[in-house]
Amino acid sequence: MPEESRATPARMIGVFGGAFDPVHLGHLSLATTALSALGIDLLLWVPAGKPAHRPPLVAEARHRLTMLRLATAGKPSFRIDAAEIIQRCTSYTVPTLQRLRQQYPDSALVLILGFDAFCGLGGWHQWEKLPQLAHLALTGRPGYGNDLHNEPLRSQLDGFYKPVTSAEELRRSYCGAVINFATRPIDTSATYIRSMLAAGKEPAGLQTEIMSYIRRHRLYGWQDKARMYVGQGINTTGR
Ligand code: ATP
Repeated sequence: MPEESRATPARMIGVFGGAFDPVHLGHLSLATTALSALGIDLLLWVPAGKPAHRPPLVAEARHRLTMLRLATAGKPSFRIDAAEIIQRCTSYTVPTLQRLRQQYPDSALVLILGFDAFCGLGGWHQWEKLPQLAHLALTGRPGYGNDLHNEPLRSQLDGFYKPVTSAEELRRSYCGAVINFATRPIDTSATYIRSMLAAGKEPAGLQTEIMSYIRRHRLYGWQDKARMYVGQGINTTGR
């Protein structure tokens, strides 16, 4: 238990990790709702460098980071923590939280997870250490279910974490509580978005600025339709 846990935390910091390959409206809805529903003062977006539990990422780190900057621009409660990208080694949540504990000793940390990420938590490196480092805030996700109470892992977690139901209870300590919160369901994923882009279609679920960036840098196999038709000898000018 951190030494500072004797006093009440000065503020609550949300920690939202992900591949963000690319960042989409599902991420933004989750992050925005977490701020208001949990009374979070500052939300750290933590883009993974090399995620441990998934295939290699598609866009280069510098592009994922720039897209995240565009998506969060002008929102003072959002901050990007790029340390996992800068370190260039495999990203694990426990060491990241240990670093953030040192960096923000007066704050409670709240690890924010969608349902799919939560279901994989039992396989994370040193996951048993999580309750000494952060609270856990869980929310449902369309297509993956949202029955956090019936999930076997949830009952396993209850032995480690103290279930709470209000933001006030969360704010009383630095770590070790678990809370569920409701988000507006947005049925999208980066996988779906990448597959649409690779097929030359504009997917729903992306901010306009992000789509423009993807188009400009031809990420995820995107090619402008006009260029594709020219390449195939098809006249798109109507003349
Ligand atoms: P991919 O399809 O490449 O796996 P993703 O869309 O699942 O990507 P991640 O960056 O892996 O996005 O997810 C980061 C976090 O955001 C996870 O906690 C995940 O549960 C959550 N999340 C992603 N999309 C949604 C969504 N549509 N609704 C709620 N939570 C989401």
